[in-house]
Amino acid sequence: MHIVHIAVEMAPIAKVGGLGDVVTGLSRAVQDLNHNVNIILPKYDCLNLSHVKDLHYQKSYSWGGTEIKVWFGKVEGLSVYFLEPQNGFVWTGCVYGCKNDAERFGFFCHAALEFLHQGGLQPDIIHCHDWSSAPVAWLFKDHYMHYGLSKTRVVFTIHNLEFGAHFIGKAMAYADKATTVSHTYSKEVAGNPAVAPHLHKFHGILNGIDLDIWDPYNDKFIPVPYTSENVVEGKRAAKEALQQRLGLKKSDHPLVGIITRLTHQKGIHLIKHAIWNTLKRNGQVVLLGSAPDPRIQNDFVNLANQLHSSHSDQARLCLTYDEPLSHLIYAGAYFILVPSIFEPCGLTQLTAMRYGSIPVVRKTGGLYDTVFDVDDDKARAEAQGLEPNGFNFDGADGAGVDYALNRAISAWYDGRDWFNSLCKRVMEQDWSWNRPALDYMELYHAAKKY
Ligand code: ADP
Repeated sequence: MHIVHIAVEMAPIAKVGGLGDVVTGLSRAVQDLNHNVNIILPKYDCLNLSHVKDLHYQKSYSWGGTEIKVWFGKVEGLSVYFLEPQNGFVWTGCVYGCKNDAERFGFFCHAALEFLHQGGLQPDIIHCHDWSSAPVAWLFKDHYMHYGLSKTRVVFTIHNLEFGAHFIGKAMAYADKATTVSHTYSKEVAGNPAVAPHLHKFHGILNGIDLDIWDPYNDKFIPVPYTSENVVEGKRAAKEALQQRLGLKKSDHPLVGIITRLTHQKGIHLIKHAIWNTLKRNGQVVLLGSAPDPRIQNDFVNLANQLHSSHSDQARLCLTYDEPLSHLIYAGAYFILVPSIFEPCGLTQLTAMRYGSIPVVRKTGGLYDTVFDVDDDKARAEAQGLEPNGFNFDGADGAGVDYALNRAISAWYDGRDWFNSLCKRVMEQDWSWNRPALDYMELYHAAKKY
């Protein structure tokens, strides 16, 4: 099958959040199943070009009153076409955040379809994502399906319904098949007016993580390579490196890591509560997060200053985006906290497990589907063929997060052998793209029959 993703994010060259990870991870897994996958991406001026191999200009075409240059390169083994309109649109700015985002991404979607059309390409599937490439679905059905791309079908994935629900509703109406990124989130949004009329073609398929990118045995950002066999030594070394790098006390207390966009969705008040509670219990906390909203960023700068005076060797807030540091935190923390108010899938808890860190999460969306509480969820885990792998909680208040975090921290203090065997067990669970890629292939085949 030939699958073309039209997307505005792609890890690691233009990644803002999980969407970028999914485009790369899913594409690589589907390509490994011997299918032909291409990605069409805007040629931003902020692309991380060190990850693009053999980038070269390929050709130009005219559309929308401008010349559009097409560049081609390889990213993580994937063939990527970069579109660079000469009218100033699309390529300026780092992914989101321009006043005219809707207009320039709309232009990009149209230009991408025109690129396929003018190039005589007839993929089996065009896969578009979230509000930013939603226009592909209706532009395709209104026009391109009747001109040259009649054998192609469109699949649309909702990564987060919070953004651009109006665009998403339109794409849901026009796509042949639609997905979202976990089963529970698909149920949570089923009543939303953008989704409700289209449930007959809507499926929840869990995201995976890319095991090559996230591999503690082969990770240049951590000091000692490890697998589940030497997880104790590997994590101890990573914890010490993390403590040293951030100027924390070298102590044998539990270390809680938080890696997140700092937005309402991620449970900011719960994060703050958990930081203080962890410190009260003699734990250490490392937060890596950036806030798109300057007010939230300021709020955390104030908290960082406060912690600096009261707990300078026990807590560190790194208020930035730093991929290498995130690797060291996944490896060096013993718990990764994800207290989201809602979470379509969540990759953080999956990556945590890959590094033998125990997820402490709120029971919502994909967090509910992937984290099974060691005390409460044995039967639910067994139904999935798994053993319990973390700690979870329901409420969206301090008492809720305390319920999970207190048990997690006590487990660390109470029985190190038990805790180490839990770390080993979570490392051995498979949260890769292998299974989801097969689910997507089944969906693509179903779309072709549509
Ligand atoms: P979302 O897409 O809602 O932000 P996900 O859990 O799906 O949440 O994906 C978040 C991804 O971004 C993860 O790979 C996580 O490691 C990464 N990430 C989030 N914040 C940061 C940060 N400040 N620095 C480095 N990586 C980050």
